[in-house]
Amino acid sequence: ALQLVWFRSDLRIHDNRALAAAAARGPVIAVFLHSPAQWQAHGHGANQIDFLRRGVEALREALHGLNIPLLQRLVPRFNDAPRALAAIAEEYDAAALHFNCEYALNEQRRDAAVQTAFNDAGRACHGYHDAVAFAPGELLTGKGDYYGVFTPFAKAWHRHISAERLALDDAPAAQAPLDVPAEAQPALDIPLEDEPVDGRQWPAGEDAAADHLARFLRFRGRHYQSQRDFPGVRGTSALSPYLALGMVSWRQCMNAVMSENDGRLAEGDAGLAAWVNELIWREFYRHVAAGFPRVCRRQPFKASTRALEWRNDDAGFAAWCEGRTGYPLVDAAMRQLVATGWMHNRLRMVTAMFLAKHLLIDWRRGEAFFMRHLIDGEFCANNGGWQWAASTGTDAVPYFRIFNPTTQSTRFDPDTEFIARWVPELASLAPRARHDPPAAERARLKYPAPVVEHKAARKRALEAFKALG
Ligand code: FAD
Repeated sequence: ALQLVWFRSDLRIHDNRALAAAAARGPVIAVFLHSPAQWQAHGHGANQIDFLRRGVEALREALHGLNIPLLQRLVPRFNDAPRALAAIAEEYDAAALHFNCEYALNEQRRDAAVQTAFNDAGRACHGYHDAVAFAPGELLTGKGDYYGVFTPFAKAWHRHISAERLALDDAPAAQAPLDVPAEAQPALDIPLEDEPVDGRQWPAGEDAAADHLARFLRFRGRHYQSQRDFPGVRGTSALSPYLALGMVSWRQCMNAVMSENDGRLAEGDAGLAAWVNELIWREFYRHVAAGFPRVCRRQPFKASTRALEWRNDDAGFAAWCEGRTGYPLVDAAMRQLVATGWMHNRLRMVTAMFLAKHLLIDWRRGEAFFMRHLIDGEFCANNGGWQWAASTGTDAVPYFRIFNPTTQSTRFDPDTEFIARWVPELASLAPRARHDPPAAERARLKYPAPVVEHKAARKRALEAFKALG
């Protein structure tokens, strides 16, 4: 009997649990719902929406090679998904719907509503835990709670990971052609707020992702541990956009590591093991979102920080967004984000902490700005990262640990190449002077004075946190 596969953030035909399971039961029709109003309500901006739509086109081509037609419908809101999918199932008399689970609250609610609609219509509906090794709830503390701290979560992950959970699914074999015309991508019915960055920076699709992964592991994987913190160096994988939309699976990443590392994930080469750890962070934050749904409702993980008095400082926020805080590393990072849709992890930590601590501006404003620009915007990781930096979250930095942006600059951009690239008005200075240019040079080069002074800002943040008791 005919099977429907609903693609969301799993835009690939290889190692896709839902697709493999559906294809084992019968001929498959694939569906993608374009939900621009919902994407925008979730804060995703032009960069990711453009990448997503290019990814769907690549998926359509890959499915076409298997004779699987891709239906594409404009379904603006998640609320409309159950009816739209039920209508498709009715139209083609599909026996079952298959999808890979997503873990943030609205996505879970949408999926539960779809499940109900299918069951009410006497059709089956199957969700698969494809995006994580362990479904939320499968890894719990000794007391039976979700983990709120990363290290014990990662240990449990390593203890319980198995060959079965790591096993790759082949892409299905080509099926006999169906009499179903594939559908063109519907036009977006609402304008995007920004122009997307040049798509050539980020070719979409699983071939591009596989190529990226292979090159990372061949040339940089073993140096990851020593290079990952330097934004001026191409030391990390830059696979995040592909992982966020499932153009590559975490299992493909892990298997590729194992084939480079004598079959090991936790030991062996330190660079590769460190990289595996980052993929576990990704899973950790998904469990956090599922286990503590308040974080999906704009609440801090730590209830005590709810009362924190964030400053209403639109001018400070604008300076941060536009990369003119007067802290060269912060400004370089923010300009990289806006120009490319991506920011290095070290700098995500530095800029997020700068907004939340130095400017004492509500981290949720920064979270939204990141989401609007990031091509890899992913609710769980973004929210987790922001709450970490703001000391409101799981495993967060203690509130009194406040990065000094100038020290971060001397440690992680020692030759200031990164600063020179993104803050070109400082490029003419001697490299060492670019970390914190003297006032006269700032004026001459039209580079702003610092919006806040580090020591005073630090003191203000400490007092605000201490006031919480
Ligand atoms: P690599 O270092 O090569 O790591 C490999 C993969 O592991 C990444 O692609 C990513 O999928 C995952 N990963 C790495 N670090 C983390 C982490 N700390 N948390 C969760 N997953 C991780 N990551 C996103 O994918 N989307 C986001 O929206 C996002 N927002 C962030 C916001 C803040 C404030 C912070 C501090 C971090 C955020 N991260 C986010 C995590 C991390 O910065 C990026 O995943 C990473 O910079 C992507 O670059 P890469 O692919 O080269 O990473």
